[in-house]
Amino acid sequence: MPADTPILQVALPVPLPRLFDYRAPAGVAAQPAHVGCRVRVPFGPRELVGVVAGVATAAADGPELREALAFLDDTPLLRGELFESLRWLARYTHAPPGEALATALPAALRRGEPLPDTHAWAWRLTEAGATALPGLRSGSRPRRLAGLLHEAARDEDALDAAMDDWRTAARSLAKRELAERIAIPASQLAPTPQPGPQPNDEQAAAIETVHAADGFAALLLDGVTGSGKTEVYLQAIADCLARGRQVLVLVPEIGLTPQLLSRFRARLGVPVHATHSGLNDGERARTWAAALRGEARVVVGTRSAVFTPLPEAGLIVVDEEHDASYKQHDGIRYHARDFALVRGKALDVPVLLGSATPSLESLHNARAGRYAHLRLSRRAGEAKPPRVRVLDVRKRPLDAGLSAELLDAAGKALDAGGQVLVFKNRRGYAPVLLCHDCGWSAQCQRCDAPMTVHAGGRRLQCHHCGARRPVPLACPDCASLALQPQGIGTERIEELLARRFDTVPVLRIDRGSTRGKDALGKHLDAFGAQAGVLIGTQMLAKGHDLPNLTLVCVVGIDEGLFSADFRAGEKLAQLLIQVAGRAGRADKPGEVLLQTHHPEHPLLQTLVHGGYHAFADGELMQREAAGFPPFAHLALLRAEAKHVDAPMQFLRAAKEPLLPFAATGSQEEAAAGLELHGPLPAPMPRRAGMHRAQLLVSAAQRRTLHGALDAVVPALHALPEARKVRWSLDVDPVDL
Ligand code: ADP
Ligand code: ZN
Ligand code: ZN
Repeated sequence: MPADTPILQVALPVPLPRLFDYRAPAGVAAQPAHVGCRVRVPFGPRELVGVVAGVATAAADGPELREALAFLDDTPLLRGELFESLRWLARYTHAPPGEALATALPAALRRGEPLPDTHAWAWRLTEAGATALPGLRSGSRPRRLAGLLHEAARDEDALDAAMDDWRTAARSLAKRELAERIAIPASQLAPTPQPGPQPNDEQAAAIETVHAADGFAALLLDGVTGSGKTEVYLQAIADCLARGRQVLVLVPEIGLTPQLLSRFRARLGVPVHATHSGLNDGERARTWAAALRGEARVVVGTRSAVFTPLPEAGLIVVDEEHDASYKQHDGIRYHARDFALVRGKALDVPVLLGSATPSLESLHNARAGRYAHLRLSRRAGEAKPPRVRVLDVRKRPLDAGLSAELLDAAGKALDAGGQVLVFKNRRGYAPVLLCHDCGWSAQCQRCDAPMTVHAGGRRLQCHHCGARRPVPLACPDCASLALQPQGIGTERIEELLARRFDTVPVLRIDRGSTRGKDALGKHLDAFGAQAGVLIGTQMLAKGHDLPNLTLVCVVGIDEGLFSADFRAGEKLAQLLIQVAGRAGRADKPGEVLLQTHHPEHPLLQTLVHGGYHAFADGELMQREAAGFPPFAHLALLRAEAKHVDAPMQFLRAAKEPLLPFAATGSQEEAAAGLELHGPLPAPMPRRAGMHRAQLLVSAAQRRTLHGALDAVVPALHALPEARKVRWSLDVDPVDL
């Protein structure tokens, strides 16, 4: 090959930290315009789809290169800002560039399918249809549909809303050539926007700050639950649409409800594209393509929506910015909120982070002046904050973990026609099955964890690997029949409450009871506004609006008060505030009961008397003293293997090259170095049959941490010990 022939540098989705060189497909000359296009290439015996990351000239004495098979795109899919941001992400997470680029593409595009058609579809009557209309059997579905279409052509979303099973009728009309399906640009579907409430002073100030932002700005919208944060988003979005720009809205997994989408659709007067894990690959690829083409003006989605192309970006909103579902736990371990900020900066548009319980990271940034801090301090409209009472249950008799006082309060709320939510963050019947005679307890065979009792005490299930087996008839160790479920899960509470309140519906909501696409929303819709009891895990902490909820009971939070994880306090405080915030809306005052054996615990006292910000102040001081984030920067190297010793062997070998970067000597030198903790077995040393270990790396300065990782991580792939384990690096880990 002549030395000056341009070649393709291709990012491939393989776990190697490099690009791969190929000759352009036969008959095509590689050129810079190919950067960002997908290309199919041979890789060993396989074929892979990669993304062209660069075009270079072949080295004169380089090896003979293989030829790429074909370009899959005429114009780049990943271009400009998104491409650059993804390359930044690969560097920041120390991940292979090909995996970072692949992560951004919807699965269908990753597989090499063509960029899908993004037309919306509408139906209209043909001339023959208009003539034939009066002759169609009156009352029949085709007649009803033809009647609708006679008024105006309608898009399929509008038909979904207007008529059940219109598709059968449409097929029947189409067969007779009375109606036809036509493609229209998505932007042409323009419902008339409905007006919202007049913003109060705090909302107006927040909206004005977003409006006035000139280019990138990070804005923390810190507003109590029900304070009208969503109203602020809606007005800021409308403002941005009016300036002809696109908006991306990220919401937590559980927050993307049909209620939220219809609120957005009704208010914005443009189609709202949704993207989340409940959609199939084709639908997700279509939203992505519509955004790339600038047809989608508002995209609302969960974590991976942060990779939506935004050629005409104007604003990024991250709702419930503290939510744990923004962190990706495998592959490229990105944090969608943090990456949204990176993109906002690159796109030079404001990023609005909203929460009633901001993460300590974001609060710290706001206090340091890096984020504008917008406060909404009271509930919007007429709604009052709920009253919070701590119930001391020490020495009190408990029934399925519930005190008599709590059951009385629930009875009163139900008698008054209200709804009651009992929050317990432990699904199943009981967390442990114990032999009362010898102390044996049912453990998972593949995990270092007890199995949870389910199905009213008949089945054992592991919440870590999914293993199931029937409850044994007798103790496997001593043959005693005295096997007893220990502790309380949501099923057991449901059993008691269904018996006790047998005249109202009692509905349990947890991952066991709600599977499938919007099962949660369907359950709650069916539940409606009638008096009744909801029992649930953190799935109920947010999302679907419950306007008739007057009493929230929180039970069994005591384990969370004494956890070893340094973030446990923050997570518990957020959960408590979020759950409590569900009580009482508009005309219904709410009450919250916190049942505990530790009523004097500082976390509870501070939260109840000072609120979330008082808690956050104290917690930030402790983090600073202890040298934890946000005052330090962490990376966690994890390894797992079937072989018990392999993970520790790999991590010891991986630690070696990090040692020269470790803190030593004087305090100043120490502050400029790394701290290495471990390697140690993971908090759960065995999971799903894999032995697990980890090495925690921390540094006071982000620069120090990344400098060391840059120097060391690429070589880890080549360690002989690496071949015997599955390993990963998690920068800014959330769960340690
Ligand atoms: P958040 O997102 O902070 O939980 P929402 O925006 O959902 O709050 O508002 C809570 C409720 O208050 C909603 O029913 C909303 O329509 C209403 N609301 C919001 N802002 C106002 C306002 N300025 N005047 C009257 N009602 C409002
Ligand atoms: Zn026994
Ligand atoms: Zn298990």
